[in-house]
Amino acid sequence: MWSLMAVTLVLAAAEALVPGRLDKITDLGWSIHEDTVHWPNNKAFVYTNKIAEEKPDGKWYASNDYCSGEHLGTHLDAPYHFNKFGWKVGDIPLEKLIGKGICVNLQESSGAGTTLQPGHIDNWERRNGKIPKGSIVLINFGWGARHYEHESYMGLVNGTLHFPGVSASAAQMLVDRHITGIGVDTASIDPGTSTDFKAHRILLQANIYNMENLKIPLWMPEKGFNLVVMPINLRDGTGAPLRIFAVPNSENVGLPTPEALKDVVVSDCTPWYAHTWLVLLSLLVTVMYAVHGFSIY
Ligand SMILES: [Zn+2]
Repeated sequence: MWSLMAVTLVLAAAEALVPGRLDKITDLGWSIHEDTVHWPNNKAFVYTNKIAEEKPDGKWYASNDYCSGEHLGTHLDAPYHFNKFGWKVGDIPLEKLIGKGICVNLQESSGAGTTLQPGHIDNWERRNGKIPKGSIVLINFGWGARHYEHESYMGLVNGTLHFPGVSASAAQMLVDRHITGIGVDTASIDPGTSTDFKAHRILLQANIYNMENLKIPLWMPEKGFNLVVMPINLRDGTGAPLRIFAVPNSENVGLPTPEALKDVVVSDCTPWYAHTWLVLLSLLVTVMYAVHGFSIY
């Protein structure tokens, strides 16, 4: 009995340390609507001409116009954003928009002052080997949990923003690794307090696109997935709203995620008698232990 409990405790501890495993195609973006987070100096997303009505003949018709800044919600920064000679959104080759994904997880240490440092990348490489050329790199600050609380997410204090970001030295290290793109779960690649936007400049100068306001699960694995990056094809865009999702690949290892396990137990598809059987089984085991004095003999 005690050894069984010990094994269970060890397994539980191991599960806490091992990143999750992607069990399905996973959406890494937030949907866009009229309350989507945006920079104060850019336009918010707004519908300008909403039609949703039954026509006199009883047939339904719906259509919207919309107006929006490029750099709001989950979006991509084209290199041209900070690099006069860089790609605009419509110039980015398709082969740069799909590739091997990796994730550097910093959420356990993240406060608003956290910055990705070269040491964090060293740690990732000690566990997984050198970042493959052409990777699309996610930095998971765990900041997405605040996404719907705009004040907390932007960290606005006395007119200054406060949220985590990428240091200039880490940006340069990723350029040296020849990555294709980088994405964060905050409003900017640079930390909120930045005024010189060094990470933006270093990465975009190297034609590496940025992705901001991503929705990265807390349990995101360090590798084992490909990323599909689909900005709206704005020909002259300095940025564009973005659809992005992760697809498990052959390196997909690790334990099922807490969310996947939750799906198994409380999924809408689970019939009522499955839960009843679990309760009855638990009662039976309890009674057996009581009758046998907590001995299996
Ligand atoms: Zn942007």
